Amino acid sequence: MHPPKVISILGSTGSIGKQTLQIISAFPERFSIYGLTAGRNIDLLEQQILAFAPKIVSVKEPHDQQRVMNFVAQHRLHTEVQTGEFGLIKVATSPENQLLVVAVVGTAAIMPTYQAILAGIPIGLACKEVLVSAGHHIMSAARHKGVPILPIDSEHAALKQCLAGVHENPKMVEKLILTASGGPFLNRDVTTFPNITPADALKHPRWVMGPKITVDSATLMNKGLEVIEAHHLFGIGYDHIEVLIHPQSIVHSAVEFVDGTLLAQMGLPDMRFPIQYVLTYPEKIHNPWPKTNLAALGPLEFQVPDLNKFELLAFALHCGRRGGSWPAVMNAANEAAVSLFLNETLSFTELIHTVINTTQDFAHLSAPTLQDIIHIDASVKEKIRHDAIRV
Ligand code: MG
Repeated sequence: MHPPKVISILGSTGSIGKQTLQIISAFPERFSIYGLTAGRNIDLLEQQILAFAPKIVSVKEPHDQQRVMNFVAQHRLHTEVQTGEFGLIKVATSPENQLLVVAVVGTAAIMPTYQAILAGIPIGLACKEVLVSAGHHIMSAARHKGVPILPIDSEHAALKQCLAGVHENPKMVEKLILTASGGPFLNRDVTTFPNITPADALKHPRWVMGPKITVDSATLMNKGLEVIEAHHLFGIGYDHIEVLIHPQSIVHSAVEFVDGTLLAQMGLPDMRFPIQYVLTYPEKIHNPWPKTNLAALGPLEFQVPDLNKFELLAFALHCGRRGGSWPAVMNAANEAAVSLFLNETLSFTELIHTVINTTQDFAHLSAPTLQDIIHIDASVKEKIRHDAIRV
């Protein structure tokens, strides 16, 4: 038996963070926790501190730091408590980390992920926005340092498993086929899209996920982000990446090879499978989660997405092909517009048009540096919030 793998999690109180800790609890002899970071769910972070006794934690807001320090002292623990971006980076780059799970929402994860790669730490990446906005910089740093980027996105974990047989050699790939459930509005009449409420958009038919990605799954922006993510992760051109709607979410993605053969990865839609894949990579180990009964599944359907109905999927593919600052601006605009939709400042259709118009009106850079991307991200988000308040 190996000594336990030492893991830190950025975003331990979110959907992926909680499920990662659930798996770690199921295999206490295999994994140990070094660091955790949380946003505003301090009650849950405190429970996690008691359960996992991390050496370090970090909270988003400075005013939560003292509360957590008092909690740690009360329980006679020795957990260091940090805050803000400094704390995120300190947890991310701890030399004890043997795997960093990046599960915070959005581009806040770019710098901590980049710094962890420079420190030589393998990454389990649940935050696709990091690759959408800064994929070029992240992947070239990872290649330079020989650091693996293991995707905790069910489609990309599926693609990675299908590509294992050809050692991820892009020359042998005809196309990557990313499947999409289609979200809650697959069969809804587009003329009723202006009436969609946050509650409607948060009812995903197949997957249980955090609110930002669930809204992205309703607009199909999520699938556009995933195409850009796949482009960077696997070095495959956009002409060789296809999206198919697959409402049953059993085939998590597939690869067509140049010889006309296809490999697909299948299983129940449960994020514990791709998370476990990354935690135990390259091994597979027995677990207690429900297993897939093929005979009980019924028909598996596949269809081409309607790009006129789901404008943000079409627009994301366009931005990916344009390259430069286009994906970073689109991603920042989408993050800001989704949060304004969730707090009912923007309607569903205003969300869509805000992303498209903001990105099209932006003065783009053809080769943004990492600092440019961080700056662009902040200014696009600020502009959208400012315009929304003025309206
Ligand atoms: Mg996915």
